[in-house]
Amino acid sequence: MVGRSTDETSPPSDEIEYTSGVLIIVNNGTVLVTGAGGFIGHHLTSYLVERGYHVRGVDIKRPEYEPTQAHEFMLLDLRDWDNCLRAMQGVEDVYMLAANMGGIGFIETYKADIVRDNTLINMHTLEAARVMGAKRLFYSSSACIYPQYLQNTPDVTPLKEEDAYPADPEDGYGWEKLYTERVCRHYTEDYGLQTRVARFHNIYGPLGTYDGGREKSPAAISRKVALAPDGGTIEVWGDGLQTRSYCYIDDCVEGIYRLMQSDYQQPLNIGQDRMITINELVDIVANAAGKTIYRQHDLTKPQGVRGRNSDNNHCKQVLGWSPQVSLETGLAQTYHWIHGELVKAGRIQPKAELSAD
Ligand code: NAD
Repeated sequence: MVGRSTDETSPPSDEIEYTSGVLIIVNNGTVLVTGAGGFIGHHLTSYLVERGYHVRGVDIKRPEYEPTQAHEFMLLDLRDWDNCLRAMQGVEDVYMLAANMGGIGFIETYKADIVRDNTLINMHTLEAARVMGAKRLFYSSSACIYPQYLQNTPDVTPLKEEDAYPADPEDGYGWEKLYTERVCRHYTEDYGLQTRVARFHNIYGPLGTYDGGREKSPAAISRKVALAPDGGTIEVWGDGLQTRSYCYIDDCVEGIYRLMQSDYQQPLNIGQDRMITINELVDIVANAAGKTIYRQHDLTKPQGVRGRNSDNNHCKQVLGWSPQVSLETGLAQTYHWIHGELVKAGRIQPKAELSAD
């Protein structure tokens, strides 16, 4: 094992007795990634395996686009308490990424499902980590916890961590994230479980969902541009003047790992601080595709907050680092991966995209 544990001798395996005489071995140094069948969890699993960790991935599904590198992969529904106990056996570090989630259209449509599922997953995972003697737990929160009253204009001031209160998060997914952040703090204060909390700002990259309703804007726009002919028109949700920042997946997993190794106990932004409009996002993707693309704006579709950007001052101070990958590089990687997937699926011809005229 490397990283924080390099200098530590392997912790002894302890045995505890839990409910009705079941003997469980804890603390043999396994790293658990929940949501390892999903976008960030899959990339994080590969990152940790490459660094020598013994990784157990857990999810209700396997990764869709390539096999997992996890040493063990358990198909479990983590809304269920017994499954959380099974997942946690022998675990030292927990990366908690499992969630029922999607892009803005999804989270604004399925609020009850999202809040119920994620509350069950998160409370059971935290409690299982405590009961089973895990040492440290990473929780993936979101920029959706930030108050909506600070995000009403496109030229928004970057959001710093202290801005979270007075609370007015996204109504549903965002409230659940903010609440679970607080539960993490209580588990640290009351039980000594070390928790680390990141607030992700729009993570994107290859091997993420790009179709079906759960995809985020970079993937959705990449898909639309890939499917459009040169000179064609794509639909853009809202007037396209809403702003966001976007963080490439390699930076995200690097930030997760650095935060997990740090002693920082407060929530920390992990995001890029370059803010662009959705129209500019379309232009960067079109440029990566080598196409001229026109935009048709659909004002009836959900757009989320009007503007959002990440303040990275704490990130730089705490981690001595901030996201590095440029939008042009990251979006080109993402576009070409999605294009390749659409070719594989037979939805576009490799070199036979027709011009519009
Ligand atoms: P994702 O949907 O690709 O991954 C989440 C995974 O959780 C999925 O594979 C899903 O099957 C799994 N899951 C859902 N319900 C489960 C259950 N009951 N039991 C076990 N597994 C279950 O999403 P992602 O983009 O990889 O996000 C990972 C984490 O980061 C989530 O907690 C998400 O809320 C958070 N986050 C992501 C972003 C982003 O931009 N991608 C932004 C903010 C926060």
